Amino acid sequence: MTTKVYDVVIVGAGSVGLPTAFFLAQAGLKPLVIDQFASPGQGSNKAAIGGIRATHSAPSKIRLCLKSIEVFSNWQETFGDDIEWYQGGYSFVAYREREERVLKDLLKIQQAYGLDIRWLGRDDLLKVIPDLNPEDLIGGTYSPKDGSASPLLSAHAFYTRARERGAEFRFSERVTGIIRRRGQVVGIRTDKGGYATGTVINAGGAWARAAAQMAGLDVPVVPDSHEAGITEPVARFLGPMVVDIRPADGSRNYYFYQHGPGPIVFCITPEPPIVGTDRRETSIFLSMIARRMVDLMPKLANIKVRRTWRGLYPMSPDGFPIVGQAREMEGYIYAVGMCGQGYMLGPGVGALLARMVQGTVTPEDKEILEELSPYREFGGGEKLK
Ligand SMILES: Cc1cc2nc3c(=O)[nH]c(=O)nc-3n(C[C@H](O)[C@H](O)[C@H](O)COP(=O)(O)OP(=O)(O)OC[C@H]3O[C@@H](n4cnc5c(N)ncnc54)[C@H](O)[C@@H]3O)c2cc1C
Repeated sequence: MTTKVYDVVIVGAGSVGLPTAFFLAQAGLKPLVIDQFASPGQGSNKAAIGGIRATHSAPSKIRLCLKSIEVFSNWQETFGDDIEWYQGGYSFVAYREREERVLKDLLKIQQAYGLDIRWLGRDDLLKVIPDLNPEDLIGGTYSPKDGSASPLLSAHAFYTRARERGAEFRFSERVTGIIRRRGQVVGIRTDKGGYATGTVINAGGAWARAAAQMAGLDVPVVPDSHEAGITEPVARFLGPMVVDIRPADGSRNYYFYQHGPGPIVFCITPEPPIVGTDRRETSIFLSMIARRMVDLMPKLANIKVRRTWRGLYPMSPDGFPIVGQAREMEGYIYAVGMCGQGYMLGPGVGALLARMVQGTVTPEDKEILEELSPYREFGGGEKLK
């Protein structure tokens, strides 16, 4: 074991680990981030399509993502890095009364937590998204403060700025165990050596359960795979991320938006879920989603798809993240189970973790941590997974 001592060791340089390293280093602490892959953001982070919204059904996620939006939207002005933030908003559309009811019910919670979100009837929604198929359209939610950014550029920005502030990174190195003394973390073991620390944050994404088990712990994170694609860039015609939550054969919801430089980026939630860590893209994804997208927005019929890919959602049993200190081991913190929203949750979760490590959690943080506790019942269910 080396003698170098770190304030915190973060397992995983992904959507959560990178902003966490940034906030810890900014607070003057010395974090070490270890990742099995060769560079930052090579796990699920690079598979995310870049959607960032605070329009959730749970207060904890709403609060965390409001913080994330503040970070993403001010990043370029504060640090000079272009992360392709675009504030186009989000719209959940309703073509049937069932979805209209679900979305309108959620509006009440969302508005109570200060979100700028409203219901637009058919004609008003068509003014915001003129290319939506008007047939049977009832209306939809519109949250103009939500947006998108580039997961690749923001990963690099968090990484660079964290390093400038003293964070250290080890790539192509795998965490293999935790060293503990009398129930307290004292270090971490890897396939290349070891590091002394009193605090370990498990931000291992789809691989978080295996990382916890190496420490003699367990956390219910199960990966399932989702596919996405990107088209050629075209002149801007679409403002918000469009989300259609109607189930269809082989899929649940799907969502797409026009990214800053012009391409349409899109993604679907398969039904039944495809559980496992296989990241090879399939032949059925594109035809399935293309049909649904063209049906919703006929104008997309002639746009050319450039590339598709498959990545992993680190799923928790109820669709909510798992964040908190492990009761069985002092100094071991979970920041896992981010499901389909780890990119947008990352900065909010990272800032919260930095306060946890410094012992400066606020009353609001305590409420968030209670909702996301690793020891909750896992009985509920996120309505907008
Ligand atoms: C197709 C698709 C589209 C998506 N779109 C969006 C979106 O629009 N918006 C959004 O918010 N989210 C989106 N997501 C979800 C998002 O990508 C994930 O929720 C998020 O990346 C998870 O972040 P994480 O930090 O937990 O995991 P990751 O980013 O995967 O980081 C975990 C890291 O931990 C490392 N690791 C794990 N175990 C070890 C170990 N033992 N030793 C060393 N390293 C280890 C891994 O190598 C990995 O790099 C999408 C996902 C997919 C697949």
